[in-house]
Amino acid sequence: MRDFRHPTGMGRGRRACVVGSGPNGLAAAIVLARAGLRVEVFEAEEIPGGGVRSMELTLPGFVHDFGSAVYPLGVGSPFFSSLPLQEYGLEWVHSPAPLAHPLDDGTAVVLERDIGAAAAELGADGRSWRSLLEPFVRNWRAFAPEILRPVVRVPRHPWLMARFGMKALLPAQVIAKRFKSERTRALFAGLAAHSFLALDELLSGAFGILMAAPAHAVGWPIARGGSQSITNALCAYLARLGGQVGTSCRVESLDAVKDYDLILCDVSPRQLIAIGGRQLSNSYQARLKKFRYGPGVFKVDYALSAPIPWRAPECARAATVHLGGTFEEIALAEKAVRSGEHPQRPFVLLAQPSLFDASRAPAGKQTAWAYCHVPNGSTVDMLSRLEDQIERFAPGFRDTVLARSVLSPSRLESMDANLGGGDISGGLIDIRQMLFRPTTKLYVTSAAHIFLCSSSTPPGGGVHGMCGYHAAKTALASL
Ligand SMILES: Cc1cc2nc3c(=O)[nH]c(=O)nc-3n(C[C@H](O)[C@H](O)[C@H](O)COP(=O)(O)OP(=O)(O)OC[C@H]3O[C@@H](n4cnc5c(N)ncnc54)[C@H](O)[C@@H]3O)c2cc1C
Repeated sequence: MRDFRHPTGMGRGRRACVVGSGPNGLAAAIVLARAGLRVEVFEAEEIPGGGVRSMELTLPGFVHDFGSAVYPLGVGSPFFSSLPLQEYGLEWVHSPAPLAHPLDDGTAVVLERDIGAAAAELGADGRSWRSLLEPFVRNWRAFAPEILRPVVRVPRHPWLMARFGMKALLPAQVIAKRFKSERTRALFAGLAAHSFLALDELLSGAFGILMAAPAHAVGWPIARGGSQSITNALCAYLARLGGQVGTSCRVESLDAVKDYDLILCDVSPRQLIAIGGRQLSNSYQARLKKFRYGPGVFKVDYALSAPIPWRAPECARAATVHLGGTFEEIALAEKAVRSGEHPQRPFVLLAQPSLFDASRAPAGKQTAWAYCHVPNGSTVDMLSRLEDQIERFAPGFRDTVLARSVLSPSRLESMDANLGGGDISGGLIDIRQMLFRPTTKLYVTSAAHIFLCSSSTPPGGGVHGMCGYHAAKTALASL
C-alpha cells in the first residue's frame, strides 16, 4: 500500500494559491500545506465545496445536497482515507444496501453490499457477477490508487490492471451479455449509465465495474448532516495545517495572483482560458479549446411529507435508487442524450438520504435528490418526465411533495462555474479524454507555476480528491 501522506517541509517559505474550493481544490491545498507551503484558497461562491455543498434549497429545516450525494469514491479514496476527517466531524452513513433498481413488475433488484449476499440475490447470475467483480473487490486497496490516477503511467499492479483493462474497454452492452437475467442486465445498465456514455460505446462497461466494485468493497455511503460535512472537515483540517479559505472571492484573472510560487486551478478548461489570458501560450489555449464537455444534468430536490411510496418496499433499504427499467430502456435513454435528444423516459438517479440520516429533514419528513441526463446546455424542462419515472415505480409520489427545487443546467452552472452546460464530470470521459485530460500535459500548463487540479484532469469526475492530490504532487515536484 502506498503512503498517501506527503513528506512535509519541502515547500517551506513558499506560497501557493488554489483557485476554487471543490474537493479537488481542497485536496490540492492540503497536500501543499502538508509540504510546508503557505496556502490560500480563493472560492467564488459564498460557501466552499463546489459540488460538495448542502443547502436549504426547498423549505426551512430540509438539508439538500446541491451536487454530489453518494460517495463510493469518497469513502474509497486513497487520499481522503489518509486524512483524519472523522476528527473533523465527517461520518459516513451506510444504508443497509447500497443500491436498489425497481422494475415494472413491482419488484426491485437490490445490490447487497456483501458480494456473497449480492451473488445470492442475483440467482443464476450470481457466479458471473462474482467472477466479474471479485478481483477488484478483494484487492480494492491496490485497485483504487491504480484507477484513480493518470492511465498513461506504468501500473503498480500490472496483473490486476490487465484484468481490468481487458474488460474495461468493452461497451456495457457486451459485458451485460454474460448475464442471463433481465434483472441483472438492468442493474448493470444503471451502473454503467454513470458514465454519461451510450451503453454501446467503448469504455461504458468500465463504469459498470467501477461503480459496482466499491459498492461491495467500501459501500456507497452518504455523509451525516449533508455533503457539506465533507467539505467542512477538509477545510477544518486545512486550517489546522495553516491553510486559509476565502469565500466570495472569484478570481477573474490569474494576473491577480501572480505573486504566488504555485497556482493550482480547480477550474475547467474553458474557465482556465478565461482567467489565464496572456499567462498561457496560444498553442496551449488552442489545445484546451479542443476539450469536449459531456452531457449535462437536470436536477430536482424534494421536501417530502413522507417516505417515497415505492411499489417494491425493498427500495427503502437503499440510499440510492436507479429508475429506468430494463437494460434496453436505459440504453435507449442514454443513446438519445448522446445524440443531443431528450428521452421521453430518462434514466433517473435518485437518493433518499433522510431515510438513513434523520438530520436531513424535520421529524417525520423526508428529502429526495434526483437528476437525469440531458444534452449539454439543455434548456428543456424535464420535470414532468423525471417525476413520471418516479411515479412509475412509486405511485402517489407527487402527493408527498411539499416543495421542490429545480436546477437546470444553466442554474447549476450559475452556482458552480465548473458545471459547464450542466456537465458534472468536468468534461466527457471517452478514450481520448481519459488518457489525455484535458491535454497530453495533464496537470501541467504552458506556464511553469500554473497547474490544473479539477476533475477536468485525471482521474476525472467524482468526489475523491485524487485530481487535486496528483496535481499538487506534480506542482511540488516542479519546485
Ligand atoms: C448534481 C450533481 C450530482 C453529483 N453526484 C455525485 C455523487 O453522488 N457522487 C460523486 O462522487 N460525485 C458526484 N458529482 C460530481 C462531483 O461533485 C464532482 O466530480 C466534484 O465536485 C468535482 O470536484 P472539483 O473540485 O473538480 O470541482 P467542483 O466541485 O465543481 O469545485 C470547483 C470550485 O471552484 C470554484 N471556482 C470556479 N471558478 C472559480 C474562480 N474563477 N474563482 C474562484 N473560484 C472558482 C467553484 O465555485 C467551485 O466551488 C455530482 C455533481 C453534481 C453537480
